[in-house]
Amino acid sequence: MRLVLLGPPGSGKGTLGTMFAQAKNISHLSTGDMLRKEIAEKTQLGEKIAPIVNAGRLIPDDLMIDVLKHRLAAKDCAGGFVLDGFPRTTAQAVALDAMLSQLRMELDAVLLFSVSKNEIVRRLSGRRICIQCGKIYTADYAKSVCEKCGGRLGVREDDKPEVVERRLEVYERQTSPLIDYYREKDLILEVNGEQPPEKVLGDVLSVLKNA
Ligand code: AMP
Repeated sequence: MRLVLLGPPGSGKGTLGTMFAQAKNISHLSTGDMLRKEIAEKTQLGEKIAPIVNAGRLIPDDLMIDVLKHRLAAKDCAGGFVLDGFPRTTAQAVALDAMLSQLRMELDAVLLFSVSKNEIVRRLSGRRICIQCGKIYTADYAKSVCEKCGGRLGVREDDKPEVVERRLEVYERQTSPLIDYYREKDLILEVNGEQPPEKVLGDVLSVLKNA
């Protein structure tokens, strides 16, 4: 199973991606997680991209495509993957097509999550990140420490209100054209993302079964 998750920030791509990958025993490739790890580890790439990510803008396509090319060719992706956060521009989608064709792979579906703006703002303003290991917690997580490593929770730099507005604009302008791109390829499956995660997962499984 090879899937792309599409939808605005806060539409549940990360949560669903983790749950789906676990259920199907395939790789969850979150470009946001990959970039945040580089930033937290203060690598050369991390230092370069931190101001861009923290401002809610997109990393240049060539850099992002290069990161993903290496990741997709790794052994653990041979059995399937869920792409979460990539592609985000038409140039990235075209590059993904080329990468997959070189690997003799094809996408099975692109899941499009619909969520209202009010709900997105509610989710992003309540979302927390573990300062130590980077695990993301939804607005419904009630504890103040990470269940995985005991680390302290904080607010993601790009979940601050002024940055959220920019990320939503960037989504509309640069990423939402991908809906038509994939609709033309007959790959889009729509999912109501404004439901509890277990219900979203159930809908995803049934929509994929009936596709
Ligand atoms: P996410 O966790 O998917 O919301 O991504 C967080 C941030 O990482 C985005 O706002 C961008 O700054 C950067 N990012 C993640 N994926 C991409 C991508 N495919 N292209 C460009 N920038 C990206």
